[in-house]
Amino acid sequence: MGKALIIGAGGVASVAVHKCVQNSEVFEEICIASRTKSKCDELKAKLDGGKTKISTAQVDADNVEELIALINEFQPDIVMNLALPYQDLTIMDACLATKTNYMDTANYEPEDTAKFEYSWQWDYKERFEKAGITALLGSGFDPGVTGVFSAYALKHYFDEIEYIDILDCNGGDHGYPFATNFNPEINIREVSANGRYWENGEWIETKPMEIKRVYDFKEVGEKDMYLLYHEELESLAKNIPGLKRIRFFMTFGQSYLTHLKALENVGMTSIEPIEFEGKQIIPLQFLKAVLPDPASLGPRTVGKTNIGCIFKGKKDGQDKTYYVYNICDHQECYKEVGSQAISYTTGVPAMIGAAMVMTGKWNKPGVYNVEEFNPDPFMEELNKWGLPWVEDFNPVLVDALPEESKAKESELVR
Ligand code: NDP
Repeated sequence: MGKALIIGAGGVASVAVHKCVQNSEVFEEICIASRTKSKCDELKAKLDGGKTKISTAQVDADNVEELIALINEFQPDIVMNLALPYQDLTIMDACLATKTNYMDTANYEPEDTAKFEYSWQWDYKERFEKAGITALLGSGFDPGVTGVFSAYALKHYFDEIEYIDILDCNGGDHGYPFATNFNPEINIREVSANGRYWENGEWIETKPMEIKRVYDFKEVGEKDMYLLYHEELESLAKNIPGLKRIRFFMTFGQSYLTHLKALENVGMTSIEPIEFEGKQIIPLQFLKAVLPDPASLGPRTVGKTNIGCIFKGKKDGQDKTYYVYNICDHQECYKEVGSQAISYTTGVPAMIGAAMVMTGKWNKPGVYNVEEFNPDPFMEELNKWGLPWVEDFNPVLVDALPEESKAKESELVR
């Protein structure tokens, strides 16, 4: 079918590469390009010899000219951006210059301020339309599958969706007192920011971890979950008509929160540069360097993830609820592709999103979030490529849960 240029060779890219190679009918040829070429070569060495032809390259994805040269040389049908959110715009610029389709799994982030918003990328819409190329934004799990679930719920089960709660539960245990399951810098930015949700056309801000509930997740059990802002809230609030409220909850263990608070209290999570031995460093980037590499968590993580969306709305004038979720086992993922479930649940939809564009199923010039396309073929592929989903038409709703006192001050070592 075609060729994909994969940028990045970290946790998510590694899974996506495994999956592209499994899906060799679509991915006849891939080039893995990243800042550290040896990581690309390691992946190639592991996966070479199958039907998919693999090459590697060194690229600095902050540099548009380097990207253009690489795209011109490899001539891919799509660029899969699995580097970091800081590189989204430079890679989009290179795609525009070379008229190549684009996809990613996370919204653009400026290095100096945590924003989690799509405005910069949505600004490219007209230019992508004019160039006749598709940009698919946020094709991971959340954002990604959560948007596909929303489009699927609306298409098949509701006349109107009024409420969406996205529940992201990681019941995995890696045995370290503190480690993050994906890029620590992005992860810590996300959880140390204020919480926010959308209700009746307005954003309502909360303090970090202010709203807590305990939810009994299928195949995981009871977990503390906290309301966070998450980037798909912005696109779903815009793209699901009639929506009254959308919120996002993520589970965290007490040890994780206690460590995070202590790190925050001593200034280690700051993204303000400081001077250290005559050099400007960003404390959060330094912290990343001392924490375990998320890629190393695979062999030691046991347990499951359970991520999905609970919808409440109307069908034929009647109230209706619907919960659709995926359960993923960390050790099963490790056995299959050598990564834990967080990378797996992101890398699989990244491959599927790229395949949707390459096969023409999701092809319309412009810049789009996943929920703006027909969800059906994507939902089928999820079942096929390792992320089967489960439906529940009578779920426990978050609003039916007792209000939990927010995590006690003493627990957060203030
Ligand atoms: P990693 O840190 O493991 O990997 C990032 C990769 O990008 C590394 O190989 C890194 O290279 C490479 N890279 C960074 N900067 C550059 C650059 N300037 N030029 C070329 N390559 C570069 O991150 P993850 O794999 O965990 O995450 C990848 C993306 O997926 C992130 O954007 C993250 O936010 C997103 N994500 C999305 C999720 C979702 O559900 N939607 C969930 C989890 C993650 P090097 O090896 O040299 O550092």
